[in-house]
Amino acid sequence: LNRRLTEFGTTIFAEMSALALRTGSINLGQGFPDTDGPQEVREAAVRALRDGRGNQYPPGPGIPELRTAVAAHQQRRYGLTYDPDTEVLVTAGATEAIAAALLALVEPGDEVIAFEPYYDSYAACIAMAGGTRVPVTLRPHFGESASFRLDLDELRDAVTDRTRLLLINTPHNPTGTVLTRAELAAIAELAVERDLLVVTDEVYEHLVFDDAEHVPLAAFPGMRERTVTIGSAGKTFSFTGWKVGWITSAPGLVTAVRSAKQFLTYVASGPFQYAVAEALALPDSYFTAFRDDLEAKRDLLVAGLTEAGFGVFRPTGTYFVTTDIRPLGERDGFAFCRGLPERAGVVAIPNAVFYDHREAGAPFVRFAFCKRTEVLQEAVKRLGAL
Ligand code: PMP
Ligand code: GLN
Repeated sequence: LNRRLTEFGTTIFAEMSALALRTGSINLGQGFPDTDGPQEVREAAVRALRDGRGNQYPPGPGIPELRTAVAAHQQRRYGLTYDPDTEVLVTAGATEAIAAALLALVEPGDEVIAFEPYYDSYAACIAMAGGTRVPVTLRPHFGESASFRLDLDELRDAVTDRTRLLLINTPHNPTGTVLTRAELAAIAELAVERDLLVVTDEVYEHLVFDDAEHVPLAAFPGMRERTVTIGSAGKTFSFTGWKVGWITSAPGLVTAVRSAKQFLTYVASGPFQYAVAEALALPDSYFTAFRDDLEAKRDLLVAGLTEAGFGVFRPTGTYFVTTDIRPLGERDGFAFCRGLPERAGVVAIPNAVFYDHREAGAPFVRFAFCKRTEVLQEAVKRLGAL
């Protein structure tokens, strides 16, 4: 293994899902729903397979139906206009979109700023692109509505003459933080002022709760032409195994990302692209019901974890809740998560894996709530007996 990758080992999600299987534990670690997405969307995939649509290589940029549906979705939700032919690219999940964007846009030695804790593929992809990651730590704020927040001054201070790109993620995995309109406006101003590219991972765009609102970064002045926005059917429609994602951006950036993508997978998920094109056209009621269901599950898990004695950062987005284990008399999230299957029959993720400053993430542990209600109830019961 080359030096760029040796520090990364095996992704925590594989390790923890294997641990859940081995110990027969409830898996609240890796973020995947235990209920598949809508029946009519599955039927659409079956129809495509049967009718022979997408069984051979689809077109490099993605099938026209899906590119059109992605553009229509950005228009309908956010009033953003993208040309399906030149400004949309279908990828093998958001994971490939992240990789292809970084491989296409980062020169060796360029600095890439990402929020810490960060989704684990960011660090690995920055490294594969030969870039240098510069983490800006989201700081825990305790008290009534505990949450992790961005310090805009820290972000501004992190920008140097070598900074090429801001890698943004909102709603944010693993903290559940949704950046506010004011924070996004400040990020946009900084990007314009310092002439930075922005890659924004918005895969949880539909999972925002309470009064939180997802605002795409591309909607701010001066951003459309410098921003690559990433979406995923895995998150929005509960088909994580289908690996259908996409980017929307200006033509030059889409062409650049496609240049890298064509040598990664070239294309993927042929029949599923047809099904996702139909899914994106589902009525608003689908998206609202999906969000409401997860909001209720968030409430259930947050209440249970609070009752069990965890410090809880109530998420306003994503399907993850980050907890603080110090009120339980614990300090080390790694040790806690390794012992949890034995102690309680539950698997969780130690947030330290998402940090360069491991000690800053040590006491935090992430639980996923994209699970059936009875599964969450059982997990809460087990954790209550800790
Ligand atoms: N970005 C974030 C923030 C994620 O949480 C995930 C999946 N957990 C991905 C990207 C990857 O998405 P996909 O499954 O579409 O590759
Ligand atoms: N994105 C999911 C999570 O954060 C897992 C994705 C993966 O397994 N690579 O849990």
